[in-house]
Amino acid sequence: MKRRLTRRVMVGDVPIGGGAPVAVQSMTNTRTSDVEATVAQINSLALAGAEIVRVSVPTIEDSFALREIISRSPVPVVADVHFSHRIALSAIRVGVAKLRINPGNITKPVYVAEIAEAAASKGIPIRIGVNAGSLPKDLLVKYGRPTPEAMLEAAERELELLDKVNFDNIVVSLKSSDAYTTIEANRLFSAKYDYPLHLGVTEAGVDTEGIVESSVGIGTLLAEGIGDTIRVSLAGDPVRELPVAYRILSSLGLRERGPRVVVCPSCARAKIDVESIAKQISDMVKGVKKPLRIAIMGCIVNGPGEAKDADIGVAGGEKTSAIFQKGKVILQVRNENLLSVLKSEIKKLIDEADA
Ligand code: SF4
Repeated sequence: MKRRLTRRVMVGDVPIGGGAPVAVQSMTNTRTSDVEATVAQINSLALAGAEIVRVSVPTIEDSFALREIISRSPVPVVADVHFSHRIALSAIRVGVAKLRINPGNITKPVYVAEIAEAAASKGIPIRIGVNAGSLPKDLLVKYGRPTPEAMLEAAERELELLDKVNFDNIVVSLKSSDAYTTIEANRLFSAKYDYPLHLGVTEAGVDTEGIVESSVGIGTLLAEGIGDTIRVSLAGDPVRELPVAYRILSSLGLRERGPRVVVCPSCARAKIDVESIAKQISDMVKGVKKPLRIAIMGCIVNGPGEAKDADIGVAGGEKTSAIFQKGKVILQVRNENLLSVLKSEIKKLIDEADA
């Protein structure tokens, strides 16, 4: 897939844009002043694959807590600051790797300039995080509602302010709670600018709604070559965002992380309990980082063909089922032993990968 070439920005040691792999981010939902809870959540997010973690900093006390959080975090920490330039300056002082500000919420040019100067002195980037829900009021009046054009103009205003103080270490995001507006706003922006884009559909929802909105919004843009870093937003435990983010990337061939279990939907031809086997295999490989494609197919009609590209796969049969590796049958196993044999063959592949 041809990706749009953007400028390279560094968030700590993680490159964004300029041809770097699409970086995966998430965000804590703990109280930031609760250092223990926040560090614990950052660790869980990093373990699940977050390469950058954003932390909201609503009070000056939260910005003070950041110092210890940053020193204990295994990944770069980004401060998310609204309304107060004082808090933004404090977050920069204590050493965040990037600052996210919202053009609708810190509006005075003099404050934006101060923030940019402080960020420049520390060599850290700023993300201009446009959110359709908090656009500058005059833009809402001008456009009537938070249109993609209004979002673009909000970003452009902030770019102009930063340009006046010669600050160009910038990432931009244009997020809406609906995928379509998000897609259009990012298309408009990327047609005009080469700043790296952080993609996400904000307030996407809980579970299915959130996963679908994010996948459509982020996936469509990535498929067009747009986007340098992503965050899937799901209400609740943010650790659930990471498998979705990696699955979006893997479905477009952009990144692989961990095994992917390909499962047939099952039908009247199924000779084995596809769902139960798939669930148990998925549980078994949770936490494994090595990319591995595992296919669970209910019968031999489509099974062997579908399983051909898999590192390992199974195609159910009447009494015995075939286990394939890279398209070749390596074992015929009685169905009552299938799960245990399949598990041990997968374990061998994981161990080989780790060796
Ligand atoms: S692989 Fe076999 S069981 Fe699974 S959906 Fe296809 S035909 Fe049905």
